[in-house]
Amino acid sequence: MAIVRVGIGTDLHRLAEGGRLILGHVAIEHTHGPVAHSDGDVVLHAMIDALAGAAGLPDIGEMFPDTDPAWRGADSGVLLTATLAKVAARGYRVVNVDATIHAQRPKLGPYKTAIRAEVARLLGIPLDAVSIKAKTGEGLDAVGRAEAIACTAVVGLSVAGCSDEEARGEK
Ligand code: MG
Repeated sequence: MAIVRVGIGTDLHRLAEGGRLILGHVAIEHTHGPVAHSDGDVVLHAMIDALAGAAGLPDIGEMFPDTDPAWRGADSGVLLTATLAKVAARGYRVVNVDATIHAQRPKLGPYKTAIRAEVARLLGIPLDAVSIKAKTGEGLDAVGRAEAIACTAVVGLSVAGCSDEEARGEK
């Protein structure tokens, strides 16, 4: 399954007291939640932009404008699934996704397994094709002061229905 396209995506949301913190479609116990038009899931938002970048689609803001009431409080799983359909329509499929979540608090170690499983389920790819890593902000910048949570994601796409040999032009 040769990777023929790669894409990168990043997202950051400011945190405020209260609200519901969702990361990778998983509810996280925390005193603070994101200030966002949608559910503020930085993990899925970064992945959507990575998919869009790899497939040559418009970015998340253009595909799902925050001025559109349809996306108010939107479940980002729905946005990811809609993006995946656009990627498939272009003849690509997801090989793998690698993400790093930047959060000072809460500690995300206990949630990494659940997030990984949920992302694999949403993308329809094996568990070993998904990597979820977590870093603190070392007490520096907005992430380090626990004022924001951010995510960086990279995805690899292959051509749907194409063997490795075909992708390399050997067939
Ligand atoms: Mg976002």
